[in-house]
Amino acid sequence: MLVGAEERWWGWGRDEDAVEVPAHALELLRGELGVSGQARRGPVALDAVKLPEPALPSEQRRALEAIVGDDNVGVDRAARVRRAAGRGYADLLRLRSGRPEGAPDAVVWPADHDEVRGVLEHCADEGIAVVPFGGGTSVVGGVDPVRGPFAAVIALDLARMAAVTALDERSLTAHVGPGLRAPEADRILVARGLTLGHLPQSYEYVSLGGAVATRAAGQASTGFGRIDELVVGMTLAAPAGEVVLAPTPASAAGPRLRDLLVGSEGVLGVITGIDLRVRPVAPWRYEGWFAPTFAEGMEALRGLEQSECAPAIARLSDEEETRVGLAMAGGGPKARAFAAFLRARRVSGGCLVVAGWAGDDERTAPDRAQAARILRAHGAVAVGAAPARAWASGRFRAPYLRDALLDHGVLVETLETAGQWSNLARLYTAVRQALHDALGRRGTPALVWCHVSHLYATGASLYFTFLARQEAGREIEQWRAAKEAASEAVVRTGGTITHHHAVGRDHARWMADEVGTTGLDLLRAAKARLDPTGIMNPGKLLPESAGRETRDPGPARQH
Ligand SMILES: Cc1cc2nc3c(=O)[nH]c(=O)nc-3n(C[C@H](O)[C@H](O)[C@H](O)COP(=O)(O)OP(=O)(O)OC[C@H]3O[C@@H](n4cnc5c(N)ncnc54)[C@H](O)[C@@H]3O)c2cc1C
Repeated sequence: MLVGAEERWWGWGRDEDAVEVPAHALELLRGELGVSGQARRGPVALDAVKLPEPALPSEQRRALEAIVGDDNVGVDRAARVRRAAGRGYADLLRLRSGRPEGAPDAVVWPADHDEVRGVLEHCADEGIAVVPFGGGTSVVGGVDPVRGPFAAVIALDLARMAAVTALDERSLTAHVGPGLRAPEADRILVARGLTLGHLPQSYEYVSLGGAVATRAAGQASTGFGRIDELVVGMTLAAPAGEVVLAPTPASAAGPRLRDLLVGSEGVLGVITGIDLRVRPVAPWRYEGWFAPTFAEGMEALRGLEQSECAPAIARLSDEEETRVGLAMAGGGPKARAFAAFLRARRVSGGCLVVAGWAGDDERTAPDRAQAARILRAHGAVAVGAAPARAWASGRFRAPYLRDALLDHGVLVETLETAGQWSNLARLYTAVRQALHDALGRRGTPALVWCHVSHLYATGASLYFTFLARQEAGREIEQWRAAKEAASEAVVRTGGTITHHHAVGRDHARWMADEVGTTGLDLLRAAKARLDPTGIMNPGKLLPESAGRETRDPGPARQH
């Protein structure tokens, strides 16, 4: 969890793992974005964070303690601040400045399904909003402590429900508690020669309940499947009932209810148990390629996926991501050797492709050979394992670097979408242009880059990163302008509003574009059955009205 005493309450991970922005990277940001290069804004002290007084009356607190035990209800400052926000750029801005958008009035830690049910029934009776809290790594406002129409809001932290409670090694499934973090799950499974294969960039802190609730995708999801494909059974506790879906390999018993609960983002109830597919641990083999252009690279990846020979990890950086990535790698001996290696092969510019093959060499050899033929047919050049291995070893470091970039007054944010192959290039151009235009209009030119990292037979994901000099005093407005422009471009160009970050508060206003008004009515009908008083995670996933609701940065916002 990102909420232990040793973790940064205002950022990512622990101080001892912090990284600095390398001097050559600062030089690049100074030259291209006008960033001053002077480290300036660290976070305020925890004591200086502005918090509303807890609004939970003491008799309510005692009633919750009677359900989960005296030690499992917290109202202290640290517990509340640590569950006041997720880990998106806007969250970090608010936390660092000591002005989160409110905080839960209490944190409640249930031990099991029955305690969750008890808490939810009590909160429904008493009109207390409930925000399920897993790893707290949401980047879309999913754990914002929104009260909605209720007098108080609690964070329901699932950290005590964090065990592998059954392992079926014949069927290759594990039953896990929702609060179990991915690394701990893998630690337990690896001892039996098994692994989950869910590897999001937030891996170190993500909980499995949170991953299922957000329909997450990991870096190896091209080969192993998104979390939706790994879930084979689950249990949901809701204020007005429960849903128990036993693990089955397949079924024709009506529509698949599992799919209603996966991605439900805590608005229907709390996922209290999950049956997940697991797989034998396999060795990894990495390959790097350079495609001549992003367009050619996309065509090559389409060829790999549609010929069913794609690697488990298939990732293509655009020209800008490749350029900046190489520049950030710096002028050390390894980077110089790699530059010489590229020159010798007449590779200049181009787009890095990372291929990660899971499995014994003998087993992957036919796919690797076919993939090589397809990549070469699209003009790609093999550049050895080094750049792909470098990506693999540094892949969980970006969130640490983000904290350091914020210290230097840099806006750094990511967003993602997916589209059909026939529309992918148009979607890419539209979103990229929208980000450049929105930030350029404000006088803060941007670096915008993108990669493809999840392949499907019919299309792929696009993951954008953008950086700009922060507009001092108007950081949230600047972020919002960029985010809205990109989201509008996504919707206008036929992409999905989110490929894996989920909806939360930030994307709720575009849900009608995504599923239509009848689709929204269907989701609301499910909510009305399971959560008739509407206490579950107000303001998330479902827009509050026909109008468009988004996170408002203003201090007057209601929580
Ligand atoms: C640096 C960084 C990198 C990221 N990389 C990826 C990535 O590669 N792939 C990806 O998919 N996402 C990524 N994310 C987004 C985030 O990590 C995912 O959305 C993740 O799945 C959330 O899990 P969590 O345990 O942190 O959930 P939380 O943030 O705690 O909760 C997320 C949402 O789910 C609800 N929820 C949590 N637990 C439950 C439960 N048991 N029952 C019902 N509702 C629940 C919450 O109320 C909230 O609405 C990244 C985030 C960051 C900060």
